[in-house]
Amino acid sequence: MLSYLHEFHAGNHADILKHLALVFIFEHLNEKGKPYTFFDTHAGAGLYRFDDERALKTGESMRGIQRLLDYASRFSDDVPSEMQGYLSLVKKYAADGMYPGSPVIESDLLGNGSVLVASELHSAEFDVLQKIMRGRAVQLHHRNGWEMLRALTPPAIKRGAVLCDPSYEEKQDYTDAAKTLCDVHKKWPAATLALWYPLLSYRNDIIQGMKDTIKQFVLGMNAHTEILDVPFCVDTEDSHIETTLDKSIGSAKPRLYGSGMFVVNPPWKLEEKLRRVLPFVAKALGCEGCARFSDSR
Ligand code: SAM
Repeated sequence: MLSYLHEFHAGNHADILKHLALVFIFEHLNEKGKPYTFFDTHAGAGLYRFDDERALKTGESMRGIQRLLDYASRFSDDVPSEMQGYLSLVKKYAADGMYPGSPVIESDLLGNGSVLVASELHSAEFDVLQKIMRGRAVQLHHRNGWEMLRALTPPAIKRGAVLCDPSYEEKQDYTDAAKTLCDVHKKWPAATLALWYPLLSYRNDIIQGMKDTIKQFVLGMNAHTEILDVPFCVDTEDSHIETTLDKSIGSAKPRLYGSGMFVVNPPWKLEEKLRRVLPFVAKALGCEGCARFSDSR
């Protein structure tokens, strides 16, 4: 039973990190002017309204992308040039009070002759996605993303990349992510595999285990394969405890204190670009100095 709905979270700090990395991956793919295949295993609904009652309830987009856009317009001279691609794409939708999800970003950036394949399992979200993507060149699957990726790789056009953005509602997602990415890397070793993961204190071990499994497998196949791991914290790990100090210490449910991107075969300059833009994002969101770079090779 799927209960996660991205409408509550769209445009938050995690989307900013993930979509910046996504835009950078596409910028790299588009540089050569040659076709490629892109897979999005967990597509979501595609477009999200700032004034959706679910977005207003959490305030995550207000504290995330809306704050970033406001900061970028007030301090335009400080905006890193690497960020322009993402910002101009986001501004196009923000003008209509919306934030673009991953399949819309991918479809906007898709190069000529390239193939985009996206899957979404939640029936209601898939219906919305189908409407949003009408008229766009994309193959949509109402299907389990892990299963779709295994079934359709390696693709006919071998140049390419994958975004895996599970909701991690079930612990099973951590094992599915590790197993699927190992299997896919084995049969499609040249692909860029980008996996988003949450930073949750009560899940630290399982998250580390997931990353270690992929890393060991990939490096076991070829010790020279590059892996980039970029955690981006927006809060301290125990911030949920501090906020409830006057009541029962530690009783609040630990919450997302950031997230990370784990990338096998990161495109050239992905790390450099993230290093340039994340300090600006952190400043805009009021969490200076929280981006950590750990090249896991
Ligand atoms: N990638 C989207 C973006 O960046 O705009 C957001 C995706 S959201 C974090 C995760 C989505 O995965 C949800 O819409 C959820 O319904 C869907 N989902 C959950 N399990 C899935 C599965 N096994 N296969 C495909 N989609 C799944």
